[in-house]
Amino acid sequence: MGDCKFIILRLRFKCGPENQLDFNEFLGRRLFVTFRTKRIQRSILRSDTLSDMIGSAPLEAAEATQLREKFYNASIIERIDANSDLARFRIRPDNPIPAFEPGQYVALGIGNWEPRLQGTQLEEVPEKKLRKLTRRAYSISCPMIDAHGQVAPVDSVDYFEFYITLVRGSDSPDKKPPVLTPRLFNFEVGDRLEVQKKITGHYILKDVGADDTVLMLGTGTGEAPHNAMAAKLLAAGHRGRIINVTSVRHRSDLAYVVEHAELMCQYPQYRYLPFTTRDPENLDESHPGYVGKQYLQQLFTSGQLADAAGDPLSAVHTHVFLCGNPAMIGYVPPGADPPSTPGMLPLLRDAGFSDEGDSSGPGTIRFEKYW
Ligand SMILES: Cc1cc2nc3c(=O)[nH]c(=O)nc-3n(C[C@H](O)[C@H](O)[C@H](O)COP(=O)(O)OP(=O)(O)OC[C@H]3O[C@@H](n4cnc5c(N)ncnc54)[C@H](O)[C@@H]3O)c2cc1C
Repeated sequence: MGDCKFIILRLRFKCGPENQLDFNEFLGRRLFVTFRTKRIQRSILRSDTLSDMIGSAPLEAAEATQLREKFYNASIIERIDANSDLARFRIRPDNPIPAFEPGQYVALGIGNWEPRLQGTQLEEVPEKKLRKLTRRAYSISCPMIDAHGQVAPVDSVDYFEFYITLVRGSDSPDKKPPVLTPRLFNFEVGDRLEVQKKITGHYILKDVGADDTVLMLGTGTGEAPHNAMAAKLLAAGHRGRIINVTSVRHRSDLAYVVEHAELMCQYPQYRYLPFTTRDPENLDESHPGYVGKQYLQQLFTSGQLADAAGDPLSAVHTHVFLCGNPAMIGYVPPGADPPSTPGMLPLLRDAGFSDEGDSSGPGTIRFEKYW
């Protein structure tokens, strides 16, 4: 295939016949250096921008300690911040992790007594809920690369990796403030929380032949299960193409660029395709690299995605996985009106793909909605 160009992001591949991207061009030298060598200082992350939003602890310290000892069963062993609102959390449960399938999820629980990160929406916790936990589901992501630069699937580590975005406030006045992430992002390495015992989910690699194409489309942290799946496929010697596509607002919302680049160098069948919607080249028509907002639906229907993937992405040999924002997925419950902008599901059906249940092999669409 020779040097391949991502027309859309104007990335260059340089390290092999197929896959290497030029980070300096893509991220800018400064961001790349930051990514590799320096975590954003917590003091900066925690700077209070909204003085009326406070994160004070509502219980006496001794009682909070007792509750933590009673409920919590896992520790944060590493936190890798991509930016102030996006982080990878490595969490080791006190007990061994049972076997599970890449793509599955588990619930994290944090006490309602824990303080919230400053700069997040104020929340009134009723007294009867103060000593309880709030739980939320999180897809299990993956370190992707180990200390020796080799692919690191989920079963090669003794911790869970999660890829989580901070929800600072609800998006409408009639919705409740977010509960878990404003507390989680206040946590540091060594802090404790609950990981529920049951790991579950049907969003997994099923009936994927070793030569099939696997197309994974995610928005934001919807990349998490795809990273776990990609690492499993690569470690298992998958021969077909693995296309891991993610749509984010800004390049700075990509927390695994280094790992993906390393894997692309090692595995010519692996391709990571990040697209942005709010960077200058997406918004500023006078920008020399102007490409407009890059939504996955438009990239798919225009054929740009197949070009960037170097694969026709035909239903005959491609399994599709969709994860993240429900608008991208486009699931319409029976009886509901379809949205004016279609998501990927109807577009894929028009292209000959089928919902899971109607099919299982190549041509099957699987999806996981985050809300
Ligand atoms: C199966 C499953 C797996 C999930 N895996 C992940 C994951 O790996 N990483 C992750 O960050 N979230 C994930 N989520 C979402 C997660 O469960 C929480 O809803 C989210 O972290 C917000 O929790 P909260 O209590 O702070 O806010 P909530 O009170 O739960 O507020 C929910 C609101 O936050 C917004 N929101 C929720 N999730 C996201 C998101 N990921 N990105 C942007 N906005 C969001 C939506 O507007 C939603 O209505 C998953 C959800 C499901 C159902």
